[in-house]
Amino acid sequence: MITTTVAGSLPKPSWLAEPEVLWAPWRLEGEGLIEGQRDAALAWIKIQEDAGIDIVSDGEQFRKHFVHGFLETIEGIDWRRMTTMGIRNDRYDAQVPTVTAAISRPGPVHGDGAKFCRARTNRQFKITLPGPMTICDTIADVHYGSRPEMAMAFAAVLNQEARELDALGVDVIQFDEPAFNAFMDQVPTWGVDALNRAIEGLNCKTAVHICYGYGIKANIDWKQGLGAEWRQYEEFFPALNDSKIDQVSLECANSKVPLSVLGLLKDKEILVGAIDVATDVIETPEAVAATLRAALEFVAPERLIACTNCGMAPLSREVAEGKLKALGAGAALLRAELH
Ligand code: ZN
Repeated sequence: MITTTVAGSLPKPSWLAEPEVLWAPWRLEGEGLIEGQRDAALAWIKIQEDAGIDIVSDGEQFRKHFVHGFLETIEGIDWRRMTTMGIRNDRYDAQVPTVTAAISRPGPVHGDGAKFCRARTNRQFKITLPGPMTICDTIADVHYGSRPEMAMAFAAVLNQEARELDALGVDVIQFDEPAFNAFMDQVPTWGVDALNRAIEGLNCKTAVHICYGYGIKANIDWKQGLGAEWRQYEEFFPALNDSKIDQVSLECANSKVPLSVLGLLKDKEILVGAIDVATDVIETPEAVAATLRAALEFVAPERLIACTNCGMAPLSREVAEGKLKALGAGAALLRAELH
């Protein structure tokens, strides 16, 4: 009861990439890079285990960007044709490659990293993939001409990847869909269909992470304009509850999401974000327990998994480690209370 996990990314060590910078270039290359990524993942697995995290992640140490890291080897994408595109409904600009032909996956993307980690922890192991709608919102397209159609094509290659990760013994595969929060009206019409296609035939647990983004300035400014109560989730949670996904991850720490919206996800396990990733202030275990306790009004304890609001990649290692410890300790407090 009240198990713990993380949303996904964790900071890169300074010898692997420049710290506290999102999507920083690698400081190693070739074989040295692979060795560095493995060592970094191993360090984070140990830190998560020590902090009492039940379902651990590789911290996304094997990829630079949570969307483009998956796309790098996908065929049909032209990386010389970079476009500046307003993403997440024009919230901020990003440099994105272009889809110029039907996409296909020539081979495994995250398989090696997952195999390495799977063999080195006895805890449940989780891996994240970008969701189809978010991929479509982080890439330019001159081939498909329709986002719903392109999303189904990406869902098919994501499904190939996910089936292989499932067969390697990965316990949870999470699809990151921050775009769900930018295109609320499109989630019920095609976002959920693409997500269902991506998880077809999987035996492991499946999750979707929706969020208000990393603690970068564009997101902080956007949140300030969202009003006193963030009710975006209401618009598509009914469709999400009808989807085949097992778990939904969302932010609840220092968030203006009214917890009552969790009542719309009665058939799902909820990853309740109890760690704010937009501040360096480390939560106390009591504060974590209080956030989780508040969610219990709408989520039965057996469906509640304590989590971080979002990835912690932009934070310093020390802050991220402190927050992991607070998360583990806060969940333990609540467990003790419920016994
Ligand atoms: Zn997030």
